[in-house]
Amino acid sequence: MKPSLLDFTQKELLSQIKPAFRVKQIFGWLYHNYASDFDDMKNIPKALKEELSQKYIVDPLKIVNKEESSDGTIKYLFELQDGKTMEAVWLKMKETQLDDKGEVIQEAKYTICVSTQVGCKVGCTFCLTAKGGFTRDLTAGEIVAQVVALKRDNDHKHNRKINIVYMGMGEPLDNLDNLAKAIEIYKEEEGLCISGKRQTVSTSGLSNKIDQLGKMDLGVHIAISLHAVDDELRTELIPMNKAHNISSIIEAVKRFPIDTRKRVMFEYLVIKDKNDDIASAKKLVKLLTDIKAKVNLIYFNPYPGTTYDRPTRADMVAFQEYLVNHGLLCTIRDSKGIDISAACGQLKEQTEQGEIK
Ligand code: SAH
Ligand code: SF4
Repeated sequence: MKPSLLDFTQKELLSQIKPAFRVKQIFGWLYHNYASDFDDMKNIPKALKEELSQKYIVDPLKIVNKEESSDGTIKYLFELQDGKTMEAVWLKMKETQLDDKGEVIQEAKYTICVSTQVGCKVGCTFCLTAKGGFTRDLTAGEIVAQVVALKRDNDHKHNRKINIVYMGMGEPLDNLDNLAKAIEIYKEEEGLCISGKRQTVSTSGLSNKIDQLGKMDLGVHIAISLHAVDDELRTELIPMNKAHNISSIIEAVKRFPIDTRKRVMFEYLVIKDKNDDIASAKKLVKLLTDIKAKVNLIYFNPYPGTTYDRPTRADMVAFQEYLVNHGLLCTIRDSKGIDISAACGQLKEQTEQGEIK
């Protein structure tokens, strides 16, 4: 497999391609014009493009399925060079705002949910991605290319702000080197220029890797997929909790360099009759007392074959109210794209089962 130009920082390309000003031009083609092929790069000499095409490809992804939800969510299924597939989701977070005359005063805001692996090794019992097992890590270029592809497909100009959440398929911290490289490439000033503040790494809680990521000081946010307040239930839901238990995660979070104005997000997947009771909410408040935290409650999204159920809205709201009344910031994640099953892994599974033509 040839590497992609998207696998490299500008500095790395400068050491591989001469003269330097061509690298700047190529960077512009990749990240400002979203070139998908050498042919797109109009001002690059043919000889150089031929030389480069011996060593590199431009775009490692091909869109093979796309599903659009009524709320503006678009889910993409990509095929990689080796034929494996993975997905990314385009999420509309805020609608365009118009004034009385119909002029745009605030453009719509979007977040892109990216994958970091094909499959996942963690094996959470509630997660559809886990059912397919682990296939391989994504390269840095394959991670970067997801944002390029979605911006290209939605005609989203390079200088428009975008947020990234690493909440697609895979466990980002289980692919830490490529993740860190992708974060750096996203941050490139002459590239997509997406600051660390706009990138959130979601993890099932590999505590030692949370420390490693913290030491890299990339300026990113972290979100912890907590889901349970006692180790017994957490180990049932996330088997590797045996090795990285709740207290080891909390300690790692306390060591993580966090912008003092920001909070660490704790995701709590609510499953009916498992963790949706007020006793759990009470324990959660206690667990997070010393942390500047915010909690995001997620409805369990059922899929065929699962033994877990979606909680009732009343239980969800009662849980949220308890947290808020005890001083915790807490939101309920609206199930964006629920009509296209946007929870991680679901489009891939359906396509492989031949349900989507
Ligand atoms: N591996 C990382 C990031 C990818 S999973 C992690 O676990 O944090 C991203 C999110 O999708 C997690 O918070 C996970 O809890 C959620 N998720 C997985 N399966 C789900 C389901 N069936 N319904 C709702 N959310 C789900
Ligand atoms: Fe992996 Fe996250 Fe799914 Fe768990 S929830 S299996 S860590 S992708």
